[in-house]
Amino acid sequence: MDLGFTTLRNRVLMGSMHTGLEDRAKHFPRLAAFFRERAEGGAGLIVTGGFAPTLRGWLAPLASSLVSRHQLPRHRGVTNAVHEAGGRICLQLLHAGRYGYHPFVVSSSARKSPISPFRPKALSGRGVERQIKGFVRGARLAREAGYDGVELMGSEGYLINQFTAPHVNDRRDDWGGSAEKRYRIAVEIVARVREAVGPDFIIIYRLSMLDLLPDGNDWPEIVGQARAVEAAGATMINTGIGWHEARIPTIATMVPRGAFTFVTARLKPEVGLPLVATNRINTPEVAEGILASGEADMVSMARPLLADAEFVNKAARDEAHRINTCIACNQACLDHTFKARTASCLVNPRACHETELVYRPTANARRIAVVGAGPAGLACATVAAERGHEVTLFDQAEAIGGQFNMAKRVPGKEEFHETLRYFGERLRETGVNLALGRRVQPEDLAEFDEIVLATGVHPRRPDIPGLDHPSVLNYLDVLQGGAAVGGRVAIIGAGGIGFDVAEFLAHDPREPSPSLSREAFARDWGIDLELEARGGVSGVTAEPFQSVRQITLLQRKDEKPGKGLGKTTGWVHRMNLGRRGIQALTGVRYLRVDDDGLWIEIGGEQRTLQVDHVVVCAGQVPNCELAEALQAQGRAAHLIGGAFEARELDAKHAIRQGSILASSL
Ligand code: FAD
Ligand code: NAP
Ligand code: SF4
Repeated sequence: MDLGFTTLRNRVLMGSMHTGLEDRAKHFPRLAAFFRERAEGGAGLIVTGGFAPTLRGWLAPLASSLVSRHQLPRHRGVTNAVHEAGGRICLQLLHAGRYGYHPFVVSSSARKSPISPFRPKALSGRGVERQIKGFVRGARLAREAGYDGVELMGSEGYLINQFTAPHVNDRRDDWGGSAEKRYRIAVEIVARVREAVGPDFIIIYRLSMLDLLPDGNDWPEIVGQARAVEAAGATMINTGIGWHEARIPTIATMVPRGAFTFVTARLKPEVGLPLVATNRINTPEVAEGILASGEADMVSMARPLLADAEFVNKAARDEAHRINTCIACNQACLDHTFKARTASCLVNPRACHETELVYRPTANARRIAVVGAGPAGLACATVAAERGHEVTLFDQAEAIGGQFNMAKRVPGKEEFHETLRYFGERLRETGVNLALGRRVQPEDLAEFDEIVLATGVHPRRPDIPGLDHPSVLNYLDVLQGGAAVGGRVAIIGAGGIGFDVAEFLAHDPREPSPSLSREAFARDWGIDLELEARGGVSGVTAEPFQSVRQITLLQRKDEKPGKGLGKTTGWVHRMNLGRRGIQALTGVRYLRVDDDGLWIEIGGEQRTLQVDHVVVCAGQVPNCELAEALQAQGRAAHLIGGAFEARELDAKHAIRQGSILASSL
């Protein structure tokens, strides 16, 4: 892609992600290794995680910043690594404004955000100037550190966006009031950065094209802002969708692929500079479709390159089937970032651990049996075989995947199919002997040098009188066994599986899953596809899908249901409950099940839930039968995934544990 002063080798931009490795100098060698692999994997242009241009702009105390020449040596390791691999890299300058998690936060106005406890100080006119100068200094330093450009973060509700949108900005001076005055800060930053860095340096402006807040910008104001930053000297405009505080999912797995490219496409005829489309672009097919149809000039993919560093090379070789696809779960990336942990990836535990988790060829090839082809067993078998071991993977089922075969049936979790497709391909590539339909007994394992048990879990059967009543089912019966479920249902257990079963039972199978259709998704969440409403969302047009069943979700703990769900996605699931008309009861004591239904005690009072079915989703316990039988014979085995520990188990732990064990065998 020709930018005039430089050419990018393709139209894939690796979008900015805060990995947690940006904050401390000692982590920069790991950051360099992380980016080197993505540049070697073919990404055309990489954007780093956000660096604050002033200390007021910190995301958190002592978080990443670029404010001094002392910080340059650590960055040179990053830029050199990317350039040696033939890539290009821009540094993102991000001023958190009122999203900062520290007492020194500033913003356009003194309006507190709902996602930080700290009320911001409204910047004075001189204060605004100081922040702008910070951006200019940051860009100059980035150039000195060897970066090919900067991305100026003007979206997602961070400081610049806090000026551009009336949602926060209620100023009446030169930086507020009319749309032109509100976005003046963006124009000043772009113009002054351009003046400071010269003509041959990439300036990406990340523009909030859809605030997803009722008092966000309207479309003519967004077009005005885009034209103004173009005139001020931006090289390209990247798309930003939704403020962090907006209560509409923008990247989670229930968002359809490419759901928001229509916004970038609408801006195309209004400006002359290249536009980058973003959000839920996770396959070469989707990316190619956007480019071929002219909706955008480049595609941004962030999490998909965490999941597979080789994404672009594989796409270029027409090997899309070999890509480890991002399933948009957020479990190891964004959820980690928001808990101040190093980011990684559920489907690729090497992400951000490139220097530590290395799959070296073995010098001591052995025969390894892996029992259980769920996520833990699949990861273990393929890594061990890649390293040169002779691996046989057993499963009693006729298909690989374990519990993922249930997860993929839940509306909104269709992406889970991709992980099974990827592992199927990996099994073939690495030459694993696959033995399906085999319930393994200890004697089947006599010939092997090493035994790995990845036999997963059994559903927990709680001690509630009447659980053998014919109206009682468990999640296996519903999601795997295809049990017919009546119109009135009580679900025991409001964990991840309880929520998923509620979503599954709420959905009318004749309707499209909202996650598979942009129109259905927009209708479900009240997004204005015509872009006539301010912020792209009127807030009153939402017509969420209603549950086709009368569902009650129950838990014993007296706390909000689904508290343990993902940090960045739990709210979506909880909102869905209410929007679908599903009732949640907490602080419940289960008394019994009989012909009348489920008897419970809540707040000291007894009640009967008159339901057709009670579905038990009360957690899981390790499946240890094979482990115990082997132990009885004095044979050693490695335990991973649910077979090792069911508490806290999820696919992230299972895949990581399988991969780590296989790297050491
Ligand atoms: P399993 O997936 O349980 O696999 C164990 C395998 O061992 C099975 O295939 C079984 O057939 C086989 N096996 C057992 N005994 C034998 C034997 N003797 N011989 C041969 N084969 C045997 N996790 C997340 O992280 N995110 C999610 O969004 C998510 N959603 C979920 C939704 C649902 C509806 C369900 C049910 C689970 C979900 N999970 C999710 C949980 C996740 O799927 C599990 O944590 C993960 O599958 C555990 O992996 P595992 O390999 O340890 O075990
Ligand atoms: P879970 O999240 O631990 O939830 C178990 C539920 O069962 C809790 O609500 C618990 O609530 C209840 N429970 C526990 N013991 C009980 C008992 N003896 N009697 C009655 N109720 C009992 O486990 P899960 O739902 O089985 O999920 C399994 C794993 O898959 C979890 O680790 C989860 O993270 C993962 N998963 C993740 C997602 C996701 O979207 N990220 C989706 C599905 C599954 P009370 O104790 O309060 O009653
Ligand atoms: Fe994608 Fe989930 Fe990996 Fe994040 S953790 S990159 S969302 S697959």
